[in-house]
Amino acid sequence: MPYPNERAGFSAIEDLERRRIIDAFGDKLAQGESHPRKPLPNFQPFTRSTPRPVVVALDGSNIYHRIPARLPATEAGLLSISIVRIDVERLLNLAQLPKSGATDPVELRSTEDSSTLQMALPGRNARSVDGQLSRDWFRTTIQEALESGNYGRESLALTLHALLDGQRNIKCPNLDCNSSPLTPPPNAMRSQCDACGQDVLLADSLRAQEIFDDHQPCGDAHGRIREAFEILSLMNLLRGLVETESGRRALARIAFVLDGPLAAFSTIAVLQRGVLRELTRIENLLSPERLLVMSAVKTGTFVQHFSELDEAPAPDSRIPNGRAFLPDDDYIRENIIARTTDQPWGEITYFGRPLVVKTDEGQRLFLNVAQPEASPPLTNAAAPRVLDEAIATAARLGIGRHEFLPLRRAHAKAAIPLRVGSKIIESLAGS
Ligand SMILES: [Zn+2]
Repeated sequence: MPYPNERAGFSAIEDLERRRIIDAFGDKLAQGESHPRKPLPNFQPFTRSTPRPVVVALDGSNIYHRIPARLPATEAGLLSISIVRIDVERLLNLAQLPKSGATDPVELRSTEDSSTLQMALPGRNARSVDGQLSRDWFRTTIQEALESGNYGRESLALTLHALLDGQRNIKCPNLDCNSSPLTPPPNAMRSQCDACGQDVLLADSLRAQEIFDDHQPCGDAHGRIREAFEILSLMNLLRGLVETESGRRALARIAFVLDGPLAAFSTIAVLQRGVLRELTRIENLLSPERLLVMSAVKTGTFVQHFSELDEAPAPDSRIPNGRAFLPDDDYIRENIIARTTDQPWGEITYFGRPLVVKTDEGQRLFLNVAQPEASPPLTNAAAPRVLDEAIATAARLGIGRHEFLPLRRAHAKAAIPLRVGSKIIESLAGS
C-alpha cells in the first residue's frame, strides 16, 4: 500500500503504463472486417390509444442455499410469487413519477394491493422428520402448495388440471422402477404406478423431480417450480375473474404484466398448449372486450439484438421515436435465432409474441404480448388486436432507460434478498 500522499503519483504512473500496454496491443491487433450495418426492419408508427387504468404485475423469486454444519451437504430454498395490483391513474398522479422513480414509498404503496404466495422447498439431502427422503419431500411440498394455493375460486391444482387437459406419461417417481405411469386423471390429486404401486402426484406432471438429485445442488429444479407457479398463478387469477360479471368487467380494465418471456420452457412446456387454449376461451367470454396479457423482457438475445440495431452510432438513437415492430418468424430466424428445425420459432414454448416499442420519449421496450385471437405460430399472425392498448399502457409506465415500473414494484414484493434468505436457511442449522 502506498502512503496516502503517494497515491496520486502512483496511479498516474499506472495509467501511463496501461496506456502503453494497450497501445502496444493495438499495434499487433489485425484489422477486423467492419460489419455492414444491418438495415432497420419495418418499424411502424403506432396509433395512440387509451392505456389500461389498472395493471396487475406478477413476479416470482427464489433462492437456494446450504444449511451449514450438516453432512452430507444439506440444502433448502425459499420461493415467493407476488401479485401486485396497481392503480395507474393514482400512481401517475403522485409527484415525481415516473421520470425519476423517486417518490414517497408510503404514498406509492397506497396505490397498490398485493398478495404473496411463499413456500420453503427441500433441497438435496434434506429429509423430513416423518422419514421422507429429500426428493419425495420436494414432491409432496409442491403438491401441498398446489392444493392449498389460490387467487380466487379454485386451487392451483385445479388450474394445473385445466391446463394439462388429460393424463400424460411420466417417469415413475420411484427411482428403482422403470415404468412410465400416467399422471392423475382430471380432478384426482394422486394415482398409482401399476408396476410398483408408488404414489404419482399431480405435482409430478411438472417433472421437476426428474432433475432433482442428491448428488448436486437442486437450484434448477426449484427454478422450474417457480416458473410453473408464475404461470399457474396468472391462469388461476384469470380463470377466477372470468367466472363472474364483476370479474369480467375488471378483466377488461386490467393489463396483466409478467417479467420475462411469455413462455414455458423445458419440462413445463407441457403447460403451453393449455395456456393458449385458456387465453382464447377467456377472450371469447370477454368479447367484445379484450384480454391484455403482456410481459417485459430485460435481458437475452432479442434485447441485445434491438439494442445493437438502435446504435447509429450513438446508443438508443437509430430507431425513430413513436414506432413499433413485430418480428415475424423469418426475421427472427435470419437475424436473432438461427433456424435449426423446420418448426417456427417459439411454436411449442411461447404463449406470447415479441414486440419492440420505441416510445415517444425514446425508451426502447422489449415486450411479449399474448394474442388470444390467433393460433400459433403467433409470429406469423396479423398484428394483435390489443397492440395499441398494450403499447399505450407500456409506454406510460416505462421508467429509467428501458425499464418497466409495475415489474419493479412486483419484484420488490416478491424478491427475497439473497443475504436475508440465506440467513433464514442457515438458521435451520440450529434446529
Ligand atoms: Zn413405478
